[in-house]
Amino acid sequence: MFREREASQNLRVSRSLSIVNSGRRVLLIDPTDRRREILCRRLRAQGYLVDETADAAAGAHMALSAPPAAVIADLWMPGVSGVQLCRLLGSEPATADVPVVLCVERDEPRSRFWADRAGAAACVLKGRTGELVRALAKAVDTAPHDGGFFVQLSGGSIDIRDRLARHLDEALFDSVIAAELRALAHAGNFERLFDLLAQLLSQITRYRWIALASGTPERLAIHHHPALRNIAEREAREAFRILSASQVLVVEDEDAAADEEPQEPIVRPVLFAGVPVARFALAPCADNTNDAVMLTSVVARELGGAIKIATLVDESQKLAATDGLTGLMNRRAFTSAMRGELSRCARHNYPIAFALLDVDHFKSVNDKYGHGVGDRVLCAMGELLGQHLRASDLAARWGGEEFVVAFTSTGLDGAHTAAERLRAVIEAVTVLDDAGERIPITASIGVAVWKPGEALESLISRADESMYASKTSGRNRVTLHGNTSPESPAASVA
Ligand code: GH3
Ligand code: MG
Ligand code: MG
Repeated sequence: MFREREASQNLRVSRSLSIVNSGRRVLLIDPTDRRREILCRRLRAQGYLVDETADAAAGAHMALSAPPAAVIADLWMPGVSGVQLCRLLGSEPATADVPVVLCVERDEPRSRFWADRAGAAACVLKGRTGELVRALAKAVDTAPHDGGFFVQLSGGSIDIRDRLARHLDEALFDSVIAAELRALAHAGNFERLFDLLAQLLSQITRYRWIALASGTPERLAIHHHPALRNIAEREAREAFRILSASQVLVVEDEDAAADEEPQEPIVRPVLFAGVPVARFALAPCADNTNDAVMLTSVVARELGGAIKIATLVDESQKLAATDGLTGLMNRRAFTSAMRGELSRCARHNYPIAFALLDVDHFKSVNDKYGHGVGDRVLCAMGELLGQHLRASDLAARWGGEEFVVAFTSTGLDGAHTAAERLRAVIEAVTVLDDAGERIPITASIGVAVWKPGEALESLISRADESMYASKTSGRNRVTLHGNTSPESPAASVA
């Protein structure tokens, strides 16, 4: 949990903001007396007012009490390192813009790396005083400052080690969360990514809801307490200004807070390589808005890569499962979905029927009108299957001009009605040739109802037998496997 910002602060901006001209006043922190003296003299000769100290913690205290124009410190000092000092001053509003020039014993890449990451204005080798003076002048000149004046802090007690520890805690916390968020790239898909995100964030802070909205494909994911079922989705939609998202994913559990007063949600864009890939929103609880702002910023900064990868995985899975011509499921995806359906039917004792449709004399469509027109017919088949089935039914292109349909929760009578309706719709469909003439299209259909315990292969083979019977008995008809009383003139029994 984030620490309360104010609770441990014994350093505050003075109410009567005393202003000091700090334009040429610099602070020199160097534990070596001799070197400090030499440097001090040199800087004074350059017109700087130099405050000096051998102790890094005392230096930090001085800088925070009366922010100078710049600080010169060693990278490695006993007690408080130059990197820590840099980070501490950078994190305090009063000293955030005070440049720090760090001095290093040896010119090692590692030292420069740390100095740079800590936000040092420059990193110079000890002994190169000329270089140091030039770096200092440049740092002072280029530092953003408010007309040469700094806000001075009240002289109350400043516990530097406390502040440093708190700052380091926050930095560590930030980097741990950042790493956890980046690790969500392993989630594998958007749905799992959001679930894992909710599990992670609900451990870190209390919130009423969190939501993630992605653009392409348009998806909205929300995590909330069951008690906020409709409220959370409405608030999230308002926060994102989304009236309709084609897919809404809801994760509902008691890890989110229930009975809180609504606070203004915090909304941030999530970028990947500078391009927005999603938006993240968090509805905070009344007592932790500061935590929520920090956390939301980390999520917005770190989650882009994971979202991009999850989206790519989703897209590639969808591509692998889709028939390129008709947009229906392909054979492999259908078989896998059908196995799932059969085990559900076995568990709950639900009926399910399977139909195989084969376009009649399709070869002659190709021969007469050309392959392109043949493709148009197949697309029309795909469209009408998509339109005339229930959302819970499954349809796929089995291969060539053959299609399959699973009528879920449907027994023989229902399957017969549904298959007969499909047959009629196919017969009535309008597909024009290149001359604008309607192409007559019919299909032969075979239907089999699943017998509990039956293997998928056997069900398919029985439907195939029935389809073949439809072909041999004149085409453009439905044949039910094993039915003893066909209920329509178009139906026959295999
Ligand atoms: P039947 O009534 O007995 O089913 O006759 P049919 O002509 O429909 O059956 P046949 O199996 O002889 O021919 C199927 C044709 O479907 C042959 C093949 O070229 C064509 N076909 C398969 N896949 C495609 C495709 O993706 N696009 C097009 N245009 N034609 C295809
Ligand atoms: Mg065929
Ligand atoms: Mg055919």
